[in-house]
Amino acid sequence: MINPLDNAPLTILQRRADVLNRIAAAAKRARRVDLPELVAVSKVQPDERVQDMLEAGQKIFGENRVQEAQMRWGNMFKTIRPNIELRLIGPLQTNKAEDAIELFDVIETLDREKLAKALVKAAHKIGRMPRLYVQVNTGEEPQKAGIAPQDLAAFLKRLSDVYDIHPEGLMCIPPVKEAAAPHFWLLNKLAAQNDIKKLSMGMSQDYETAIEIGATSVRVGSALFGARDYTA
Ligand SMILES: *Cc1c(COP(=O)(O)O)cnc(C)c1O
Repeated sequence: MINPLDNAPLTILQRRADVLNRIAAAAKRARRVDLPELVAVSKVQPDERVQDMLEAGQKIFGENRVQEAQMRWGNMFKTIRPNIELRLIGPLQTNKAEDAIELFDVIETLDREKLAKALVKAAHKIGRMPRLYVQVNTGEEPQKAGIAPQDLAAFLKRLSDVYDIHPEGLMCIPPVKEAAAPHFWLLNKLAAQNDIKKLSMGMSQDYETAIEIGATSVRVGSALFGARDYTA
C-alpha cells in the first residue's frame, strides 16, 4: 500500500488506508469473521488533521480529555457530530460525568464504583447513558487507572446489582515497558470469564497483535494522524 520510494509525506487518507489494510490482514490471519473497529485517537492533533480524517471517511474517534473533546467536537465539528461516534478513552473525574455523558457515545474508562454512581445520576438528569467499558489495569501499575484483574468479577456484579449497569466491553492499556501480548491475552480471558463481548485493546505499536488476540476495536493515534505535537 505505502510506497517507501515515494518521498512525499503520507497523507491522512493514505495512512488510514494502510491501517485499515493491516486491520483486515490481522483479522484474516486470526481467521476472524468480524472486522475490528478502528477508533481514531484525535487527542492533541490539530483540527486540520481531524478534518482530513473525517473527509477520508472515518466515523469513530477517541479523545482522552473531556474538556479538549468539548472544545473540538462541541464547536468546530458541531454540524457533523450526529454522524460520528465519540469515545472517551482517558480517565474520567466524577465532577465531569455530566459533561462526558452529554458528549460521548461510549465511555471506555469506568473503573470505580464512585464513577458508576456519578454516571447513573448524570444519565438520569440528561436522559441518556453512553455504552460503557470497564478499564482493567492488567499490569497492576499503581499509577495507572483501571480495576485490578482479581477485582473485576466483583466489580461487574456490583455494577449490575446496585446500578443496573452492564458494560459491553473491557479496555486495557498495557505497561509501556512490557510486551503487550500477555496483557491482551489476560483481557481476553477476563472477558470470556465474565461473558463480555467487546475488547478495546491495541494502539499504534501493537494493534495488529491485539487483533490477533481478539480486539474488537483498536485505538490508533499517531500511526493514523502522525506524531502528536505537545508543544503546539
Ligand atoms: C493516546 C492513546 C492512544 C493512541 O496512542 P498511539 O500510540 O498514538 O496510537 C490509545 N489509547 C489511549 C488510552 C490513549 O491515551
